[in-house]
Amino acid sequence: MDKVGETTLEISLSALAHNYRYLKSTLNGETKFLAVVKAFAYGSDMVAVASKLETLGVDYFAVAYVKEGVLLREAGITSPILVLHPQETNFEQLIASCLEPSLYSPRILRSFLATAKAHKQTNYPVHLKFNTGLNRLGFWENDVAYIIKTLGAEKALRITSVFSHLAASEDEAEKAFSLGQIKTFTTITENLNSQLGYMPMRHLLNTSGIINYPQAQFDMVRSGIGLYGFGNDKTIDRVLRPVVTLKTIISQLHKIEPGETVGYNRAFTANGYGMTATLPIGHADGISRHYGHGKTTVYINGQAAPIIGNVCMDMIMVDVTHIPCKEGDEVLVFGRAEQSAEAFAQSGNSISYEILTAISQRVKRVILK
Ligand SMILES: *Cc1c(COP(=O)(O)O)cnc(C)c1O
Repeated sequence: MDKVGETTLEISLSALAHNYRYLKSTLNGETKFLAVVKAFAYGSDMVAVASKLETLGVDYFAVAYVKEGVLLREAGITSPILVLHPQETNFEQLIASCLEPSLYSPRILRSFLATAKAHKQTNYPVHLKFNTGLNRLGFWENDVAYIIKTLGAEKALRITSVFSHLAASEDEAEKAFSLGQIKTFTTITENLNSQLGYMPMRHLLNTSGIINYPQAQFDMVRSGIGLYGFGNDKTIDRVLRPVVTLKTIISQLHKIEPGETVGYNRAFTANGYGMTATLPIGHADGISRHYGHGKTTVYINGQAAPIIGNVCMDMIMVDVTHIPCKEGDEVLVFGRAEQSAEAFAQSGNSISYEILTAISQRVKRVILK
């Protein structure tokens, strides 16, 4: 058995490559692939993931904020980077790092245009985000006239792409709604492109969109969770490979007697003679308090050990009464066959996206080549 020695998040670049190639194989030949690497590449390692994907030939990256794009540039990533939710205060930094903003409202468009002009930019690449039903960020259909009036003859900016985001692409019960979003997006972009005099790229699909609405690939797709091994779908999850594995070790074993309690607020009471193991991972590492009280298990020597009592900041205690184990043994939190991140997340009423991005920067990352 390999010894991790401390809490460790292993990152498999070969699993990443497999997922990229698989998702890419489902696309039409000409469809471009944008890899979403926001939030430290869904909690893994943004630079390692982006560097690998760049060597595999990915077309575009997306991050949420300017700071994330700056980190990629500093690491030598040269591919175009779309910033999904840039903040006005960072526009100068965005231009200095050759990042490409998503512009999603007349206010943000005016503000970015002013900054681009002040910096004497011509044809600076920008992306227009339209709201088609998620009601989060985006221009409205009837903003097209304003956009044409403002950018039609404007030399400072060039619209590289127009995009929108599906609200429920993983949800079969919302198929009619998703098809409606696809239709609205088609109408908006046809209207905009016909008045613009050139053809920006169009993109709409996230991972579940790629799987469920292949007819709506347009010019590019944007995949995040699929690259990391999850597709919000059991069939797809069998084809994809989890990129990260979270492991820890047993720091100490405790014999407990009937009636004794374990942890803060005495939240667990032993009803017989037993054994607990204390592990060096807690809510400060991303294991929230929702995973305590016996609902969630970790795996020790292949056997399920429930997390008992309250999750502490730096530690959890698990019940190992029936598991042969010793101090220093490796513990699998999630990532291998015993328990996927999705299954772990479900036990705490959460989803793969949340548990992956919650793994805090305190946890050591190890890149498996
Ligand atoms: C995060 C994000 C994605 C990626 O979605 P996945 O479901 O992880 O593939 C795509 N588009 C936008 C606008 C996003 O914010």
